[in-house]
Amino acid sequence: MSSERKPASALTLAIHAGSRLPESSAVPITPAVHTAAVSWFDSADALDAALDGKDFVYTRIRGENSVLLEEAVAALEGAEAAAVFGSGMAALRSVFDAQGLAPGDRVVLPADGYGATRALFKRLAEQQRVELHALKMSEPSATERITALRPRLVLAESMTNPLLAVPDLPAIARAAHSVGAVLVVDGTFTSPVLQQTLSQGADLALHSTTKWINGHSDATGGVVSGTRARVDPLRAARVLEGALLGPFESWLTLRGLRTLPVRMAAHSAHALHVARRLREHPRISRVLYPGLPDHPDHATARTLLKGGFGGMVAFEIAGAGRQESFRFLEALELCRPAPSLGDVTTLVMHAASASARRLTPEERAAAGIGEALIRVSVGLEDPDDIADDLLQAVGRS
Ligand SMILES: *Cc1c(COP(=O)(O)O)cnc(C)c1O
Repeated sequence: MSSERKPASALTLAIHAGSRLPESSAVPITPAVHTAAVSWFDSADALDAALDGKDFVYTRIRGENSVLLEEAVAALEGAEAAAVFGSGMAALRSVFDAQGLAPGDRVVLPADGYGATRALFKRLAEQQRVELHALKMSEPSATERITALRPRLVLAESMTNPLLAVPDLPAIARAAHSVGAVLVVDGTFTSPVLQQTLSQGADLALHSTTKWINGHSDATGGVVSGTRARVDPLRAARVLEGALLGPFESWLTLRGLRTLPVRMAAHSAHALHVARRLREHPRISRVLYPGLPDHPDHATARTLLKGGFGGMVAFEIAGAGRQESFRFLEALELCRPAPSLGDVTTLVMHAASASARRLTPEERAAAGIGEALIRVSVGLEDPDDIADDLLQAVGRS
């Protein structure tokens, strides 16, 4: 009889050695990436509680890195809680599904918004047999239409893509709430730093974190914030549907978020400078930037945005069709022709063939998105270098 253990085999050692950190009160200045999909407990009671979501045990139920990101986003939104998702689209889908819509119910969404959102909502509306109504939320008639339609769900975008219209959210919220609708605001274009949409009447504030919040285009993600009562059901659905954000993506997004306030201030200053310089070019027929006094929604933007007007600028090359717009993209030397936004690099896109690609030609025309429209996500390069590059490429288009 021996209580001595036999020397462990390399097979066992290779798996069990080095699996627990020594006791320590050190707090790492940046969190670790918790790659473990599952954890174990010395106590079976602790495991039991963890399976109820009270501790970390399985990433799909609750992940360390996603919890940290949720805490940071909720803090920036001034929200009780936030839930992260594998993408902005997954977040939008979750919010739509959470409404428990019945056949014949109505959903309102922006006519001039993100094309993929429109395509997703069309698909969900067909599946759930609900009616979809597209409105230009920045037009004064939008509030009357909402009251008349009596929808269950209203989606607005804080700044539309790509025309940069800024709807009067408090007015839209009053209209939506007067008929008992839930107002979801996709604030991807402004970020929670420039606009806290929950304080302006939104019931849920949604973002594609892939854009400004991450800021470096190295992780896809989405987030929804609001009261605990509204966010908890989204989390519960996420546990079952599996639309989670992985630990690496959560970690990268949180690292990007650390500099979001300073980046948004700089992106806004650079964008204003670039917009002013674009206006001076004779071949540029229209420049859209909410920070310019001649933008149709400048007054609304001044009231609702704090600390800047964002990094997005749109403009039209006089008389350009798709061919000339494509030639402009190819003539860029510094700015990158890429269909996204919110990066430290300046990203330039032809709206009709990229973000509005999923719209029908009629929907594009109704939204006012022509072949000459170019969208710029102004980066952190020297703003004069950005403007010089855009202007030389316009000259060669
Ligand atoms: C990109 C984007 C989305 C979708 O987000 P993904 O992270 O790409 O899924 C939704 N809304 C707006 C306004 C966007 O720009």
